[in-house]
Amino acid sequence: MSVKMQQNLHTHTNFCDGKNTAREMVEKAIALGFTSLGFSSHANTPFHEPCELGDQVESYRQEVLTLKKEYAEKLHIFLGTELDYYSAGLMPESYDYKIASVHYAVQRGEMVSYDTSVAHSESAIARLFNGDGLAYAKAYYDNMADMPNKIHGDFVGHFDLLTKFDARAPYLFDADAPKYRQMALDALIAVLEKMEFFEVNTGVIGRGYRNAPYPAPFLLDEMKARNCKMLITTDCHNKDFLNCGFDLAVELLRAHGFTEIYDLSEKGFIGRKI
Ligand SMILES: [Zn+2]
Ligand SMILES: [Zn+2]
Repeated sequence: MSVKMQQNLHTHTNFCDGKNTAREMVEKAIALGFTSLGFSSHANTPFHEPCELGDQVESYRQEVLTLKKEYAEKLHIFLGTELDYYSAGLMPESYDYKIASVHYAVQRGEMVSYDTSVAHSESAIARLFNGDGLAYAKAYYDNMADMPNKIHGDFVGHFDLLTKFDARAPYLFDADAPKYRQMALDALIAVLEKMEFFEVNTGVIGRGYRNAPYPAPFLLDEMKARNCKMLITTDCHNKDFLNCGFDLAVELLRAHGFTEIYDLSEKGFIGRKI
């Protein structure tokens, strides 16, 4: 049975760190036959990173709302944002949906980013975690476990984002170590107390970092066992990759026993057979 990508809720534009305008993304989504598209520009954090909206929050919101009206006949557009653990209190509340993600930790008073570059991660592990890659991983999962207490999102973004560089720099930490897996599972159980929707995020494929999406297979097994509800998103930063890896993600979910994916509608998330 073939399943069509109808929607992507994890989309970045040049309002934050994406390459294309919101309008270009809309046109591409229509060309691909999507029924809806959600924009999820990076919310602000106290770190003022270049990937964030910064002072563009209102212009981003206005542009998406303008496109939503203009394209109403052709595409259902959702105004969303990707919150970070540290975004609490820094963004307006009124969005159609919010992604809840962890990108950073603070260690010894310094911000550690988990998706900036191998060099950044290497330096952080060496300087701030005494060379202990698993301590660096633990700081990430501590924030993930606490995330639902700090921010209110509709689904969890890239649950194991910290594995972004594991094909290029597997030496950062051992993602097969039992200790690593246990900290990831502990964080999952903590998050599940308040959230039930998770994404299979193919963004790393389109951006050339790896050929497998998040989350890792052992996490998908646990998510299935605990009845998590899954979305497929492409964490798109370039319109050419708006549907990248969707078929692969469907196959992956099927292989782990999932029989449904969820799409956002005006009435909330709706399951669809895969
Ligand atoms: Zn993210
Ligand atoms: Zn993103």
